Amino acid sequence: MKRKIAKKLKAKKEAKQLIPILISKAKALTRAKKPSIKVAKKVNYLRNKFKIKLETTIKRQICNHCKAIMIPSLNARVRTKSPNIIWFCRECKHYTKIRYKK
Ligand SMILES: [Zn+2]
Repeated sequence: MKRKIAKKLKAKKEAKQLIPILISKAKALTRAKKPSIKVAKKVNYLRNKFKIKLETTIKRQICNHCKAIMIPSLNARVRTKSPNIIWFCRECKHYTKIRYKK
């Protein structure tokens, strides 16, 4: 049993390290005008399987609605409007608001 748990934890650690690499890879793919949907799906799969909590900087790059990786000027639009930062996903036309003022 102990060995099984250790194996699971190791896999989780590896997945956590893999996600930022995958996101940077997706950005490179979209620069060459190729869809990064496959990579986004893989990131989402890893998140769900190992129950990984991402850092806020990475978390904001992923759309809450369609789980696409949002890249400003290519895939998404970022605007500020008094207390909020507004991310607009062009894949599914979904808005996400992040409050920065208290
Ligand atoms: Zn979206």
